[in-house]
Amino acid sequence: MINKDGAVEKKLGIYIHIPFCVRKCLYCDFLSMSVGERKKEAYVSALCREIAKESFRYREFTVSSIYIGGGTPSLLQGAQMKKILEAVYAHYRIEEACEISMEANPGTVTAEKLSCWRKAGINRLSIGLQSMADEELKALGRIHSRADFYHTYREAVREGFENINVDLMSAIPGQDLVTWRKTLEEVTHLDPAPTHVSAYSLIIEEGTAFYENPPVLPDEDCEREMYKITNDILKKYGYRQYEISNYALPGYECRHNIAYWKRGNYAGFGIGAASLVKNERFCNTRDIDCYISMTEGVIKEEKHMLSKKEQMEEFMFLGLRMTEGVSGEEFFRLFGQTLEQVYPGIVERFCRQGLLRSYREKDSGKERIALTGYGIDVSNVVMAQFLLG
Ligand code: SF4
Repeated sequence: MINKDGAVEKKLGIYIHIPFCVRKCLYCDFLSMSVGERKKEAYVSALCREIAKESFRYREFTVSSIYIGGGTPSLLQGAQMKKILEAVYAHYRIEEACEISMEANPGTVTAEKLSCWRKAGINRLSIGLQSMADEELKALGRIHSRADFYHTYREAVREGFENINVDLMSAIPGQDLVTWRKTLEEVTHLDPAPTHVSAYSLIIEEGTAFYENPPVLPDEDCEREMYKITNDILKKYGYRQYEISNYALPGYECRHNIAYWKRGNYAGFGIGAASLVKNERFCNTRDIDCYISMTEGVIKEEKHMLSKKEQMEEFMFLGLRMTEGVSGEEFFRLFGQTLEQVYPGIVERFCRQGLLRSYREKDSGKERIALTGYGIDVSNVVMAQFLLG
């Protein structure tokens, strides 16, 4: 995009981490914790300080998306969220049509908070439902019920939220094809329907309660069938799969995440938040007390300038997550080498094996490669071939 002075505008995504939850879900390996009100308030102040102090890095950028994730951002009071966003507005150049998303969990949302969030500029809500079956929610250790979700969804719509994502989870303990189908059907029949659905499979991560006491999970065949059902049902109701686990009504794809998969620049604020700026990665401390005490500015850890090899790898395995895949021409423009030079024979072999497909863009006629349905099924194997060692 060209700005009014004729210069090309550089876009920036902002991620803000709110690490608070009522209690830990049994499968959770996110950076989240349960703390008292005083610590939450101190954290909000530290966040605002970081947002202001770090703005010097981003003078040349215009913010095109803000994503407030967690944890459970909806645990904060409306006034606290307003304070955080005001710090962003005061120190950054914000695009007029900026997408501002916030994650919210049923059981922590009130009409008053929703109204505050709207007034503060939040225009997209991402509600963590996971399942419509109460027994499955209980098996995951979620704090909410199906009825809590309906209440949150209705209130959000009443307060004027038109762009709502619903997060779902498949392959969870006690789930079968019937209950998964029922969850999907119920979500697509919400009135109005959500504009976006994210559907991930449960993965048991080290350090979680499930890792210590593994539950019985649906088997691999069932999991694959669930993935297929997800595609079929969401497609039937007008959702387009644009990434391995993400579906949207036309025009409602999540801009923040797309920028991430396309390796755009992003700034992360709050504990554990990662940033990628002009191919340099850095990260914030994961220690909340240390973060709160850094009054002179947050020290950026794990600073690492990505090598060309690492950039090429990321380009491939993030880009291939999207159903539109990657452009060979873009690869050449960025790295000065063709895909064939860097990955000799691989694309051709995968196309022959039915794991990748090559097609031409409608408007420009440029060639792209993307995973096929079968390729998505075994995406780990495909992606591994794009690592350069
Ligand atoms: S609500 Fe999300 S972040 Fe919080 S404990 Fe559960 S899974 Fe983790």
